[in-house]
Amino acid sequence: MSKDNEILDNTYISLHRIIPFANVDGSGNRCSIFLQGCNINCLYCHNPETIPLNSNDAQRVNLTYLLNRIKDSMPFIRGITVSGGEPTLHYQELIPLFKEVKKLGLTCYLDSNGFFNYDKIKDLIEVTDKFLFDIKGLGNFEKLCFDYQNKDGKEDNKQIEKPQIMFRNLENLKKVLALSKVEEVRLVHIKGFYDPFETVRIISETIKEYPEVLFKLIRVHPKGSRDNDYIAKMTPTIQEHNDLAEYFKSISKNKIVIIN
Ligand code: SF4
Repeated sequence: MSKDNEILDNTYISLHRIIPFANVDGSGNRCSIFLQGCNINCLYCHNPETIPLNSNDAQRVNLTYLLNRIKDSMPFIRGITVSGGEPTLHYQELIPLFKEVKKLGLTCYLDSNGFFNYDKIKDLIEVTDKFLFDIKGLGNFEKLCFDYQNKDGKEDNKQIEKPQIMFRNLENLKKVLALSKVEEVRLVHIKGFYDPFETVRIISETIKEYPEVLFKLIRVHPKGSRDNDYIAKMTPTIQEHNDLAEYFKSISKNKIVIIN
């Protein structure tokens, strides 16, 4: 058995689920892989079952298994997108997987909340083609995304380092932009936690040198979140959402996708 195969056989990862083909997770048809565990805790999370590091919902699988599932999706996909949870928590396991996937001629994307230790995951970034980068942390996001009480009786991820620096994900965004590794920057638009116009202004300023980067502005969706009634109160109207999108268009040349 080759050394590479040995690594694939002996490296295990917590898998939440796989969607063999998806066309909303980056360009082209992609195999979407959802891993278990997140280092933050967004109140509006639509996949709260992926937040705990350990869960009965997740399966421990080896990389050979994952690679075989990816091969099953060929030749219908252009690549894979690994999401979560927060996929960079699994940086060590993803490095050998991405190396093998690239040998198949497929691209490897990460769908990340941007809260990672850049130096720690550098080797993963090197083998990542593009990031779908969720911007949080500009303003009073602490209550929304970092309050570890934002959970419905799920186990506390005490073993995960809590991101300390609110602006860390913006700094990380700048670093991966400089490597031309960002395809899309996303913002979930919700009222009451941050100044949306100021946040959009900072995003536009940050990506303006990278015209290929898409900005996706998503109106928060109460349905499927953990606190439907509360999130409903914090949901902007379509008019408010469109006004924010218009503001972005007035100050930026980057393309925008508006999700109402
Ligand atoms: S970053 Fe937020 S929305 Fe995404 S999986 Fe983690 S808690 Fe959920």
